[in-house]
Formats: sequence, C-alpha cells, structure tokens
Amino acid sequence: MNSYSEKIPQRPAWTEIDLGKLRRNLQLIRADLPRAVNWLAVVKDEAYGHGALDVARVALEEGAWGFGLSTLEEAMHLRENGITAPLLLLGERQEAELEWCVAHDLTVCVNEPHNVRTLAKLATDFGKQVPVHLKIHTGMSRYGVRWDEAWPLIETILAEKSLLLEGVMTHFSQSDETDKTFANLQFARFNEVLQTLEQKGVSVKLRHACNSGGFLDLPHAHLDMVRTGILMHGVFPSQVCRQIPGIEPVMSVKARIAAIQKLEPGEVIGYGMRYTAPTEQRIAILPIGYGDGFPRVRNEGCALIHGQRAPLVGGIAMDALMVDITDIPQAQMWDEAVLMGKQGQDEITVRDIAKLKNSVTYDVLTNWRLRLRRKSVNGKITTQKAQTILATDGHR
Ligand SMILES: *Cc1c(COP(=O)(O)O)cnc(C)c1O
Repeated sequence: MNSYSEKIPQRPAWTEIDLGKLRRNLQLIRADLPRAVNWLAVVKDEAYGHGALDVARVALEEGAWGFGLSTLEEAMHLRENGITAPLLLLGERQEAELEWCVAHDLTVCVNEPHNVRTLAKLATDFGKQVPVHLKIHTGMSRYGVRWDEAWPLIETILAEKSLLLEGVMTHFSQSDETDKTFANLQFARFNEVLQTLEQKGVSVKLRHACNSGGFLDLPHAHLDMVRTGILMHGVFPSQVCRQIPGIEPVMSVKARIAAIQKLEPGEVIGYGMRYTAPTEQRIAILPIGYGDGFPRVRNEGCALIHGQRAPLVGGIAMDALMVDITDIPQAQMWDEAVLMGKQGQDEITVRDIAKLKNSVTYDVLTNWRLRLRRKSVNGKITTQKAQTILATDGHR
C-alpha cells in the first residue's frame, strides 16, 4: 500500500467486515465450548481475508488463548502490532526461520528430530525455555509424524531441557461430513499417542485436534483446546454439520453503480458478445471484476440492488460486470450493490459464490483481492481489557 492510499477517496468497490457480527460469533462459539477447553483462533491468510489484526484483537477480548498462523510473516505482523498472546505456526518451518521464532516467541510445530535439535540449541543460546507443539499425523498424511512412530521423537523432545512439550496435536481430514468413521479412526490413533504419554508419566498441557468441524460435531475430541477458523467468520464448514443459531457471515462484498446503459432489442454487451438483449433493457455497470476475485462467469449469478436480484449479463471483465436492472427502475448512479452478503430480505451467500466458482467457501473468502479495500464496521475496541491485553503480556 502506498503512503497516500489511506488519504485518497475509496474506490467504489470494497469488502465490508462487520466486526460486531464477528464478536457475536466469537461469543457464541465461546459460550458453546465447555469452560475448561481453551480456544485457539486460526487467523492464517489474513483471517481468511477478514484482516488478521482486527480479528485477533476482537478474539483476544472474547477469550482466545492464542492464534494459529501459517507463515512467519503472518505471525510477525501480529507481533509487530502488539499482540503478545501465544502464536502457533501450524505448518512446517525451514531451518532459517527457527531463530526468528525463538527470538519473537512464536510457537513452532515439530514433527522431525532435526528441527527439534536446532530449536533446542537456539533456545539455549537465547536463554529461554521454548514451548513446542508436537504434530501427529493420524491419517491426513500432510504434516506430522505418524501416530505409530511418534514415541522416539517425543523422547528426543523430552531430552532437551531448553524445550517444553507444551502441546500435542493432530488434524482431521474430514470432520464436518455426516460419516464420522474416518474422523473417529484418526481420533483413536491420536489417543494411542496420548495414552502412551500418560503411561510414561508425561503430562502435556494442550492436547488438541478439532478444527471448526470437529468443534461442532466431535465434542468427545475437544480435549484441552479447539482451533477454529472458518466458523468465526460465520460460515459453517459444511451444510450437514451442527449449526449454532445466531452465527452470521462477517464479510460482504459491495460495489456502487458506475454507469447505466440502455440496450435495444438485439444489442449485445461485453467482451465476446456473450449476451444479446431480447427486449429493451436497462443495465448497471459495477466496477468490480475477476481482477478483484469475483468468479469469471458469463450470464450467471446476480447482485442485490435495492434488495432485489439483478441478474448478471454477458461475461465479466477484469474490472467490471454488468447486471440487468430493468425491473429495478429506482436504481440510480452510485447506488450500492451487494455481490456477496445481505441486502434487505435477500442474501447472496459465500456458498452461492463458491458454486459459481466451482469451489469451496474457504477459497471464496480468501481470494478477494486486496485492491478491494477492507472496510471494517462496528469494530471499536474501547474496553480497558483489550487495551491492557495489547499493552502488556497478559494472555498466557
Ligand atoms: C486451517 C486450520 C484449522 C482451522 O480450520 P477450519 O476448518 O477453518 O476451522 C485448524 N487446524 C489446522 C492445523 C489448520 O491448518
């Protein structure tokens, strides 16, 4: 972002993040979770496009233990902005990243001995005892040491006095479908590791397995902490998982009408002449396109204008799309249109956009481009509590 970009007038196309709804969602999640269970807010990829710092600040006020992130840059962004709560890096770290992690108290997941030894040495150099979370693969076959080969690595960690085995975790590959057979098999494998730890008298403060789907549908797997991502943003991980009433989408995508055209019968519109007007039509041009992350559709989808559905006509362009407003005569230049979200009684859901994209809701949320500036609403953080949290090292 350039130095002047905060000052110039906002483009008439933007994403709107309702931090009031976010807060409500987080309160409902926290209230649904047994008190003894900690809650990690996963804010990787800019909190799924919602703005990691804003989401983290609200989540701290609502009782998050810490935050889950993917990249070192994401974690440093929170640290540099005064977030002192635990930050857990979920993926795998390159050796060169480990020194940063120790220096800035970023918690690393480990799943092989080399990084364990490197971390231990760095911890000694820094004079710190460094917490680590051991990642167990129980069937997802992504990151992690296999559940049936974990013990030697645990011994390696325990042998390092400068390390603290603070967490043991696994990740479900399917927690939000009706059939929980595989999730339960994964959990049984994870339990084998936890039992071994218990038998050997090793106590670990945070045993965690659940993502949003597991949090909703696998209460027996909550253990000491759950890791929620998409649910915080008001989007359920699937349509068959348990629903918590009152949870609402946080993100909307909006644009203002930037031109109005009249089409005579037989006239065409847009690149490739993909649409021919059957009758006289009134068309609104919205200054948002696939260059902003809207799916590259033709004659599919719609926008909400004055609470009514205006169907998309023609093929969408990089920076513009066209909608038919013949039946919305009150629509005028610079009126607000909703591309995703609610207007009046109607709503275009994240799932609707995912269908247009032939993809999933996670992909839709994270792929709005940043040239659509994020406008946060209802988000004042005024309470003493948050200011204290941000100013001191409060949250462990
Ligand atoms: C992304 C992620 C989550 C959060 O998943 P949601 O389905 O968005 O709740 C939890 N745990 C791990 C390891 C992740 O990578």
